[in-house]
Amino acid sequence: MTTTTEPRSFLARNQWLLARRTSQIAILALFLIGPWFGVWRLKGNLASSIFLDVLPLTDPLVLLQSYVGGHTIEATALVGAITVFAVYALIGGRVYCSWVCPINIVTDAAHWLRTKLHIGVSWQPRKATRLWILAASLAVSAATGAIARDLVNPVTMLQRGLVFGLGLAWIIVLAVFLFDLMVSRRGWCSYLCPVGACYGIAGKVSLIRVSAVRRSAYIDCGDCFRVCPEPHVISPALKPRDPNTSPVIPSGDCTNCGRCLDVCADDVFEMGGGSGSVRGEVKKGVLPRRTRRKAKGNQGEADTPGCICLSFAPFAVRDLDLSTVRHIVARQRVTFRRSPRAPRLAPVSR
Ligand code: SF4
Ligand code: SF4
Repeated sequence: MTTTTEPRSFLARNQWLLARRTSQIAILALFLIGPWFGVWRLKGNLASSIFLDVLPLTDPLVLLQSYVGGHTIEATALVGAITVFAVYALIGGRVYCSWVCPINIVTDAAHWLRTKLHIGVSWQPRKATRLWILAASLAVSAATGAIARDLVNPVTMLQRGLVFGLGLAWIIVLAVFLFDLMVSRRGWCSYLCPVGACYGIAGKVSLIRVSAVRRSAYIDCGDCFRVCPEPHVISPALKPRDPNTSPVIPSGDCTNCGRCLDVCADDVFEMGGGSGSVRGEVKKGVLPRRTRRKAKGNQGEADTPGCICLSFAPFAVRDLDLSTVRHIVARQRVTFRRSPRAPRLAPVSR
């Protein structure tokens, strides 16, 4: 067990965050230097583009909506969508969210301000809402022939707003910011965005995953839950009921943002792949079916003493200070003892 007593440097506490911001700004800059300065390295936008006039890149959701909308699919668009899907299936579907999408900067800023202002009231839609929105956008495309993803998609709108100036785009982006700030914690990206839902599906088979390799060093501090944009993904790997459960985070909702690695002073988490692949663990039968079900977005009912962390996750969606987190964990332990569903413990013989 590693315990860090020395204060960690700013860089150590934010290295993944800084790397992500660099990536997001660099990709955005590649798109913008064309229309702004006439240097065309990446032509198009995040929905459909071509890199160095050679490599087509197409959002798989755009291709799907074009297809169901009755449009003719060109070979380059198909190659671009397969390329994008294959890359994200390899490195993590929602890597798009944390390393590429510019809206992530907006929603992270809203979350940061929300934390600073101690805004606790939050309305959290159901996890499946974004899948319904994804299905609805496909239905609209099929019925109208329009690419419904782009009609009110803040990702594309922010990019257009940067290129063509102020307009409706900024109103949509501001609406997302205010929604996340005032109404729902991480509301847009975690519950509503169909693009994130689409990449989350690709992420189910990802090889690069975060793993709670040193989970025995976890001290119930709750730091990772507080910073994680999708806190429900952590519990099955960090605090499983079965100690033989794989430490690999199995959910496609994990964005591989690395924020849990940043904040953990005890190096509980690692980013990795290969033998740590969750598919391998599932095939080997190491990952129980129950854990997979929990990881699909169920934040977990606190039905057994071994699920302290699962019951803690819904509380983690609100912004809590450390003392409150410890109080909740202690209270949950008491609740478990009183729960009629908790297994009865045999009396200890002395
Ligand atoms: S969920 Fe949507 S808006 Fe949020 S980061 Fe992902 S793609 Fe961008
Ligand atoms: S588990 Fe870690 S890497 Fe995955 S989304 Fe949460 S903070 Fe990011």
